[in-house]
Amino acid sequence: MTANAPITPDILTVPRKKAEGGKTNLVGMTRDQMRQALIDIGTPEKQAKMRVGQIWQWIYQWGKRDFAEMTNLSKALRAQLAESFEVAIPEMISRQISEDGTRKYLVRIAGGHEVEVVYIPETDRGTLCISSQVGCTLTCSFCHTGTQKLVRNLTAGEIIGQVMMARDDLDEWPTPGTRNPDEARLLSNIVLMGMGEPLYNFDNVRDAMKIAMDPEGIQLSRRRITLSTSGVVPEIARTAEEIGCLLAVSFHATTDEVRDKLVPINKRWNIEALLEALRAYPRLANSERITFEYVMLDHVNDSKEDAHRLVKLIEGIPAKINLIPFNEWPGAPYKRSSGNRIHAFADIIHDAGYASPIRRPRGEDIMAACGQLKSATERARKSRKQIEAEAGVKS
Ligand code: SAH
Ligand code: SF4
Repeated sequence: MTANAPITPDILTVPRKKAEGGKTNLVGMTRDQMRQALIDIGTPEKQAKMRVGQIWQWIYQWGKRDFAEMTNLSKALRAQLAESFEVAIPEMISRQISEDGTRKYLVRIAGGHEVEVVYIPETDRGTLCISSQVGCTLTCSFCHTGTQKLVRNLTAGEIIGQVMMARDDLDEWPTPGTRNPDEARLLSNIVLMGMGEPLYNFDNVRDAMKIAMDPEGIQLSRRRITLSTSGVVPEIARTAEEIGCLLAVSFHATTDEVRDKLVPINKRWNIEALLEALRAYPRLANSERITFEYVMLDHVNDSKEDAHRLVKLIEGIPAKINLIPFNEWPGAPYKRSSGNRIHAFADIIHDAGYASPIRRPRGEDIMAACGQLKSATERARKSRKQIEAEAGVKS
């Protein structure tokens, strides 16, 4: 362990090598790792960097997974690559499309686990909400993912693979030799707001987002990627330094007493410690803000006093406050705040000079909203079981 080693709990990330066939997946490797992998199969060191550049473009700029299509590589090299490597992404096992156009995907990763990915089209952007872990080690009391035990961290390949899968589904890979014009992108933004705490899987999240930002690949600007954390304070500065994306923080309360209950990681790093880390968050250019996410729970954290306290707490931090009407799930211990209470809260924040958008719930008919992701999977499982029971099949 070095001094900089993340405090990530020791959770298994599946190894890069796949059992069947023993082929190594190129997806998720950094450029350096790919270069080494090519050298390991006999590519001359002098050529390796150039070959990485070529393969990288095929995979990440043009979405090609078959080495045979990588026509600027010699036939011999293509054959050699196909023998040792594969270009594999998680398998989409279901897709639901909401009345409002929101798409929710269930994807299967190695080991048979499932995670959810949500695509939200808006007039000026299309946002993909991706997952970083199967389940979550944290236990925020309003979040359904938090009631599911962590199964494992996703690999970098599984994280960027969610983006590649969505681009497949949206049919958004440009023709080889061309680039996508930025303005017309269907998938223009990424938010790490699906299942899991991204800062407890730092290295894999970083490597995956570096791939998303690479100018020879998917080419998303760092300003179009937002990482949401519940407040893993020691990793916050690294997020700016090593990823450089925008930050959202699940704030949700204005006193330690309430935040301890809602976001239990607050017992380890309290509001003051969190704010200190946010004040120091480097690389915020003029127009950039830290997003404070604030879930509106009826009579728990939604009073006018809370709004005033919030404004005071964040003084001096370039911020926008994203008010999220609570998405209820079966058995949840909270209720969504009334529209009146949400608007009264928003007005106070707005009058203090902060943007305070109220997040419009999207994809409610398909349970695609924040914090509902687990329930949908479980429901699907349950209904499969029910179907089996009804059909008299033994599982
Ligand atoms: N683990 C990270 C990112 C995933 S959660 C985090 O906690 O920030 C993404 C956002 O959805 C967080 O702000 C989270 O607090 C919020 N959220 C979770 N459950 C919710 C629910 N049932 N209703 C509304 N927002 C919820
Ligand atoms: Fe985990 Fe985020 Fe849910 Fe908390 S809100 S349990 S950190 S996914």
